[in-house]
Amino acid sequence: MELKGQVVMVTGGARGIGRAIADKFAEKGADLVIADVSLQSAEEAARELSQKGARAKAVNLDVSKAPEVTGVFDQVMKEFGRIDVLVNNAGITRDGLLLRMKEEDWDLVLSINLKGVFLCSKEAVKMMVKQRYGRIINIASVVAFMGNPGQANYSASKAGIIGLTKTTAREYANRGITVNAVAPGFISTAMTDALSENIKQEMLKSIPIGKFGSVADVANAVTFFAEPGNGYITGQVIHVNGGMYM
Ligand code: NAP
Repeated sequence: MELKGQVVMVTGGARGIGRAIADKFAEKGADLVIADVSLQSAEEAARELSQKGARAKAVNLDVSKAPEVTGVFDQVMKEFGRIDVLVNNAGITRDGLLLRMKEEDWDLVLSINLKGVFLCSKEAVKMMVKQRYGRIINIASVVAFMGNPGQANYSASKAGIIGLTKTTAREYANRGITVNAVAPGFISTAMTDALSENIKQEMLKSIPIGKFGSVADVANAVTFFAEPGNGYITGQVIHVNGGMYM
């Protein structure tokens, strides 16, 4: 229970990796704000966390909409009085080869995956500077480092997150705020489960550990950055990819 009483907001926390991150923080005693574009699934997640004894609140948030972001952080401030950890996890894909990629798919991915991190971090930093304490953890991807055919928009957004992480880390290090990133590789989720056996076998060949990662593998790396003993680590990236990128 080393994070007892800490207030943690997870964007896109209703399902997938975000949900596993929320579960892990709850296990460590934290209070959770599940911020998701789907209020119904956020409420379901918050209800399940509450049943396990955690304090959890669901909020409706599209991270790419500045007024919504401001409103949600105001609401959290009123109800919880602080925010100790922000996990910028919300992200989408709209894949296609560069020549066929529509401008609206480029704009949508960049606005949710990258601008969303900027907007939420800005609001969190306002509160964290006053507290002189905070942890921001951004979910990037292995494709930020390797590229991936069909993911020009997504890989650019995730590479942007790495630059944003390092700059924010430098700007607020002397205010007690650390900013780090976790870069997952192929993680078993509904998305990867749906792939054909052939494609899965091809993907597995590129992973030295020989299996997909789990959502818990990502969640463990995220909570590492929030643990009280790890406050001297900032501007860093933990790769959770089974060795596919070193
Ligand atoms: P997921 O299962 O699709 O979950 C994403 C969550 O974010 C969903 O609850 C989704 O809500 C929510 N969301 C989508 N757009 C949002 C917005 N504008 N504002 C707030 N919430 C929004 O995805 P995941 O696989 O768990 O991925 C989580 C993060 O890890 C993403 O940043 C992704 O890029 C990154 N990642 C994933 C993998 C992987 O293998 N899965 C690998 C590397 C990196 P709805 O369900 O209502 O859309």
